[in-house]
Amino acid sequence: MSFAELGLSEAILRAVTENGYTTPTPIQRQAIPAVLKGGDLLAGAQTGTGKTAGFTLPILQRLSTLPVKPGSRARTVRTLILTPTRELAAQVEESVRTYGKYLKLSSGVIFGGVGINPQIKLLNGGLDILVATPGRLLDHMQQGTIDLSKVEILVLDEADRMLDMGFIRDIRKVLAALPKQRQNLLFSATFSDEIKALADGLLNAPEMIEVAKRNSTVEVIAQKIHPVDRDRKHPLLAHLIKTHDWSQVLVFTRTKHGANKLVEQLGRDDISAMAIHGNKSQTARTRALADFKQGALRVLVATDIAARGIDIDQLPHVVNYDLPNVPEDYVHRIGRTGRAGATGEAVSLVCVDEHIMLKGIEKLIRQSIPQQVVPGFEPDLNARPQPIQLRSGGGGQGRSGGGRSAPNPSSAPRSGAARPAASRPAPAQPGRRTGGSTSGNRGR
Ligand code: AMP
Repeated sequence: MSFAELGLSEAILRAVTENGYTTPTPIQRQAIPAVLKGGDLLAGAQTGTGKTAGFTLPILQRLSTLPVKPGSRARTVRTLILTPTRELAAQVEESVRTYGKYLKLSSGVIFGGVGINPQIKLLNGGLDILVATPGRLLDHMQQGTIDLSKVEILVLDEADRMLDMGFIRDIRKVLAALPKQRQNLLFSATFSDEIKALADGLLNAPEMIEVAKRNSTVEVIAQKIHPVDRDRKHPLLAHLIKTHDWSQVLVFTRTKHGANKLVEQLGRDDISAMAIHGNKSQTARTRALADFKQGALRVLVATDIAARGIDIDQLPHVVNYDLPNVPEDYVHRIGRTGRAGATGEAVSLVCVDEHIMLKGIEKLIRQSIPQQVVPGFEPDLNARPQPIQLRSGGGGQGRSGGGRSAPNPSSAPRSGAARPAASRPAPAQPGRRTGGSTSGNRGR
C-alpha cells in the first residue's frame, strides 16, 4: 500500500515523498483513514512506529480542506496537540512543518523553560496547529493569551506519559476550555486504568487501533546483557565504545547525578559525551541533541524522562548503563534504536544489585535476554547485592540528584498513578526558567 492510496492530497504526498517515506507504517495505514473520516480515535502505539505522521498527515489534510470558521482568529487555534515533554513538542511541530511544507497552514510550539513573551506574540495572530506541553499551555490560558474555544481537533500524544508525569489535572483544565464539538485523538503506548478512564470521558465512539503488541519489544532490536560489577560499568562502557568503534551511542542512567558523572568519566577517556536531563537548560539540551544528531558528539547520556520522545533516525546503539526502575521504561529506552525498520542493538550493563529489576523486565517482555560476559570484565560471583536507593552516586545509581525516587527494585510496578507533583520532572514545568526562543511557522 502507498501513501497515495490513503487519500492524502498531492501537496502532502509530495512532502512525504521528499522526506524519503515510500510505504506507510502499520499505524499510519490505520490511523490516516480513521482521522480523515473525522471521528475520534484511540490508538495504541509507541514511539518509533511512525505515529507522529499517523496523526499529523491526516490533520494537515483536514485543516487544509475544512473552511476556517468565520469570526476573529485572534489567539485561537484550530488543532491542539499536547505532548509530555518539550523535546517531543518541538519534534512534533517539526514534523508538522515538514509534512505541511506545501500547504498554507500556520503552526507553532509552546513549552515551559523559555520566555513566554515570544509565545504570546505567536499566539496573538491565531494558529492552525499548536503543539504544547500542558503546564505552559495552562499559563497562557490563565493569562488569557490563548483562546481554545475554536479548537476543532485535539491530540493527546503519549497520553500515558503525561499521566505518569502528573499532568492529569492540567489536562482536565485544558479539556474544560475546549468546545464540545471537536475531533479527539488519543495516542498511548500503554493502557492503564487511568488511561482508560481518561479515554472514556474524552472520546466519542472512537475507532480503536493498536500496533505492536503491548509491551512487546521491537523484533529488529538485538538485545544483550553484559553482567559486570557495579564499579566496573564505566570502564566496560568505554571498552565497548572503543573496541566496537561505536560512533553514536545513547546511554541511559538512572539519575541526573549518574549522567553527569559518566559524562566526566568518558571525557577523561577522550570519548565525547554530553548529558541531557531535567537540570540542564533547554539551550544545553537542544545543543547536545543537535551535536549528537550531527555526529559531533559520540555519546549522549540521558535519564528516562529527558530522553522520552527523542527522535533520532536509525540510532544504532542504546546502552542501559543502569537498568530502569520501572520495567516499561526498558521498552521505551530500547525503542530509541531500530526505528521504522532499521536494525539496532540494545546493550544493558547489569550488576548484582539489578538482578531483580532484570527479572521484572524479562517478565514484562516475555523473553529472557541473552547474557554475555565481556572478557576482562567478569563479575565477582560472590558479590552481594546492595539496595540501590542506599548508595549515593556509586555507578551512577545514587539517590542524590535522582529525578525519581528509587523504589525497592523488587516492587517496582508501573502503577499508572500520577507521581506526586514534587517529583514531576522539569521538562514541561511552566515558567520556571527564562530565556530561549519560540518558533512559529506562519506564512510559509
Ligand atoms: P514516530 O513513531 O512518529 O516517533 O516515528 C519514528 C520514526 O520513523 C521517525 O524517525 C520517522 O521519521 C520515521 N518514519 C515515520 N513514518 C515513516 C515511514 N512511513 N517510512 C519510514 N520512516 C518513517
